[in-house]
Amino acid sequence: MKETSLDKIISLCKRRGFIFQSSEIYGGFGAVYDYGPLGTSLKNAISQRWMKAMTQMHENVVGLDSGILMHPKIWEASGHVGAFNDPLVDCKHCNARFRADELFEGNPDDGNWGEIQCPPCGTTGKLTEPRQFNLMFKTHVGPVEDDAAVAYLRPETAQGIYVNYLLVQGAMRLKIPFGIAQIGKAFRNEIVARNFIFRTREFEQMEMQYFVKPGRDEESMKSWKEERLNFYTDKLGIDSAKLRFQQHGEGELAHYAKEAWDIEYEFPFGWSEVEGVHNRTDFDLKQHQEHSGKNMQIFDQEANEKYFPYIIETSAGLNRMLLAILADAYWDDTENDRIVLKLHPSLAPVKAVVCPLVKKEGLPEIARKITDDLKSNFKVLYDQAGSIGKRYYRQDEMGTPYCITVDHQTSEDQTVTIRERDSQAQDRIGLDKLSEALSAKINDFSA
Ligand code: ATP
Repeated sequence: MKETSLDKIISLCKRRGFIFQSSEIYGGFGAVYDYGPLGTSLKNAISQRWMKAMTQMHENVVGLDSGILMHPKIWEASGHVGAFNDPLVDCKHCNARFRADELFEGNPDDGNWGEIQCPPCGTTGKLTEPRQFNLMFKTHVGPVEDDAAVAYLRPETAQGIYVNYLLVQGAMRLKIPFGIAQIGKAFRNEIVARNFIFRTREFEQMEMQYFVKPGRDEESMKSWKEERLNFYTDKLGIDSAKLRFQQHGEGELAHYAKEAWDIEYEFPFGWSEVEGVHNRTDFDLKQHQEHSGKNMQIFDQEANEKYFPYIIETSAGLNRMLLAILADAYWDDTENDRIVLKLHPSLAPVKAVVCPLVKKEGLPEIARKITDDLKSNFKVLYDQAGSIGKRYYRQDEMGTPYCITVDHQTSEDQTVTIRERDSQAQDRIGLDKLSEALSAKINDFSA
């Protein structure tokens, strides 16, 4: 099995325009990243695939795009104002800061903090007792910064779905069970943000909330668990040996959850969560009814009764999914002294590059024309800079699955070579069949 260090991935991401540190010219800004041209394209490809899997492939799952800023009472009702806390520990010697659960397993109040060693500086007896720290970013709406104007940047997209669910259900004439899917930014003032885009303060979630009749929740949980795990292998092409489920034990369950599973990927820094599949029960809807005074029960026409549905949530981090894809695709091809991103061709930001073998004898003109002919169907690039080997290797790092080369034979018999990224095998093909052949290759992998 290949081992890839995170540093190599970070360096490739910067070099090839996938991901940059935010505000780099000012020395960076804590745990925020900017997505470059290739990163944006890959991120969009993933989110479109997720939305398609959720809404196009399920007639009873529909999309939503709710606000990042919402009524502050939502966060009181959901429990985030009172309980969205991570206990925090500081080292008075080296000023390092940790989440208590990183240093002590179990209830932080039971930890003997005076005897725990600070990992970076090795000092014992300098750790503070854990303090509660709310992860929500607070802001003020309007000109006056008083308590009445407090608002929060949403720490999860789910609540936007809950507070709209009856409006969506009525407008779309949905019958239970049904789901609402949403992709959007979420913000958490993470205490320890690390591992590149794995844990950041601003990130994107792809959440689907499935509303079911109480009693049907366990079977629904089972089928969503299976479907979500399959998404990673079948729709993103991720190696199944690097994926697993981890169940939350009694002590780890969130205050709202009856059952919770994490889908974990084996990142270069170890197994870590990419997505959570949770049975959130009717907790949130009951809370919103209590806090808003509005009805949050659904009327089930078939059963002719009113009730609070149970909610099965599938909550994925788009950025973590992207990191898993990059880690899975990164290939140090030492035999050929090149780095390759073995991206699923249907996800690759650029599908093909068109290269004239030399910059003269009419080859650039032919290559330009081919680029123009292909560009309405695929994202293609034209490249004439440097030796052909260098051009191929540049594209290998970007994950481009095909290189099309125009050589002297092209003007004689209207054929070009297609080089495949991973095997480097080359085929000759007629120009009249090029677009069709590329489509077949890309769609062959397509989900
Ligand atoms: P963790 O235990 O890693 O903090 P969590 O259990 O708090 O994650 P959830 O609240 O279940 O995470 O959020 C659902 C998903 O949102 C996670 O599986 C993850 O992919 C993503 N996510 C959560 N926090 C972050 C973050 N700070 N940066 C990037 N993605 C995140």
